[in-house]
Amino acid sequence: MNYVPVMGLEIHAELLTKSKIFCSCANAFGGGRNERVCPVCAGMPGTLPVLNREAVRLAVKAGLALGCHINRYSAFDRKNYFYPDLPKAYQITQFEYPLCSDGAVPAGDKTIRVSRIHMEEDAGKLTHDAKRGISYVDFNRCGVPLIEIVTAPDFRSVQEVQDFVSEAALRLKYAGVCDARLEQGSLRVDVNISLMPSGAAVFGTRAEIKNLNSLKSIGRAIAFEINRQTELLEAGMPVRQETRRFDERMGETVLMRSKEELQDYRYFPEPDIPPVMISRAEVDAIRRELPKMPLERVLEYTTRHGLTEEDARLIVQDRAFSDFYEEMVRVFPAYKIAANLMLGELNRNLNFSGKTISEVRFTPAMLARLCELSKTGRVSKNAAKEILAQMFETGEDPFAIAQDGGFLMREDIDAVRRCVENVLKRHTSLVADYKNGNRKIFGFLMGQVMREAGKGVNPQVAKEELTRQLEQ
Ligand code: ADP
Ligand code: ZN
Ligand code: MG
Repeated sequence: MNYVPVMGLEIHAELLTKSKIFCSCANAFGGGRNERVCPVCAGMPGTLPVLNREAVRLAVKAGLALGCHINRYSAFDRKNYFYPDLPKAYQITQFEYPLCSDGAVPAGDKTIRVSRIHMEEDAGKLTHDAKRGISYVDFNRCGVPLIEIVTAPDFRSVQEVQDFVSEAALRLKYAGVCDARLEQGSLRVDVNISLMPSGAAVFGTRAEIKNLNSLKSIGRAIAFEINRQTELLEAGMPVRQETRRFDERMGETVLMRSKEELQDYRYFPEPDIPPVMISRAEVDAIRRELPKMPLERVLEYTTRHGLTEEDARLIVQDRAFSDFYEEMVRVFPAYKIAANLMLGELNRNLNFSGKTISEVRFTPAMLARLCELSKTGRVSKNAAKEILAQMFETGEDPFAIAQDGGFLMREDIDAVRRCVENVLKRHTSLVADYKNGNRKIFGFLMGQVMREAGKGVNPQVAKEELTRQLEQ
């Protein structure tokens, strides 16, 4: 039997607030164990949570970035479960009334539906010391503000899942709500996956694979799970609804627990936090803060700027890089030259120096001037490379560097004219051949002109002059 995989995602993203979601402890990464903990996030009885306004604002922004509807009314609920890294023995989350719903994100060849995005608090972290038989608990992460993005079961292949995760991560980064680093856990992906016979209308029973921390692991875990479920179904055994984790080393998913039933959580409305009411005006104000999203930029770069899709996609991979490009072409609209310079020499220099685009010593306008020098033929391609390298070092203006370094081409048209005349006089028979149709001779003559003219002559100018005199 041929089976089709069906997948839906639940993605947790840490919000970039200064403080935690219900207390004033710092929301940060690293440091010593239990350094950022207070009675509220440690779940002491009798403490009261206060909702972080900035967390709500960022969650709204995330919702807008993922094409969601922002609900004017949303509310928090308690999800009861005991686990040693969750000291209250319940998690404050949103169940019945999520902040955002009904989103849509174009990714790859599809548009993926986002069912909902809700806010919740993160739990702490357990470390197990198997040798000594001890576990440690670190509450630093307790109360870190999260959004959970839940998609519809719209994925049918690994590629589609990876495309969406990349696109969603990029949008969250553009919006400035999350740094979206899978490897560091600021973005964590759970994949729900089931199989159905191809052509079937009803989905099969799903397993959920928790906390995948790279695109590669997502691919490996799904591949393993497709095999596992196929074998079960072929053997006439049921796929059970359960939660599994991916063992990186073995390349296998392993059972964590059979899936809790909804009733196990005993959700009920959180009595200590009032519902969240957001006005249209507030939503509109947040919408205005959003930058142009990557997909929109790709469309603009390919249609209006004439870049290739590949180059456009490379540029938008980083918002600061894309912003730099946009500022550059606003100053001097030589799109292809700007893109080539940035993706080629600029990237090479960035990699070499270990810097990011935000750390370079020159402005987009300065790089635009280099584009202009290059486009108008005032400096050669090689000179442009050298000038850029010096801009990296000194932060100086490209024109000044070109002037001081003798990179500027001579525009002395009289000198070029004389060179061409001399060359044509020396090679009268070749000129006759050329005029009789042997066009290959042009290259040779051009070489002679450049030799005669010496360094610093603009080849474009020389070429035009040679053509002009030959056609006379
Ligand atoms: P529940 O309410 O049981 O948690 P949801 O409807 O919230 O279920 O879905 C949770 C996640 O599982 C979503 O990402 C959804 O797309 C996905 N999902 C639901 N049903 C299936 C299925 N049969 N196969 C694969 N994924 C599924
Ligand atoms: Zn705290
Ligand atoms: Mg669910």
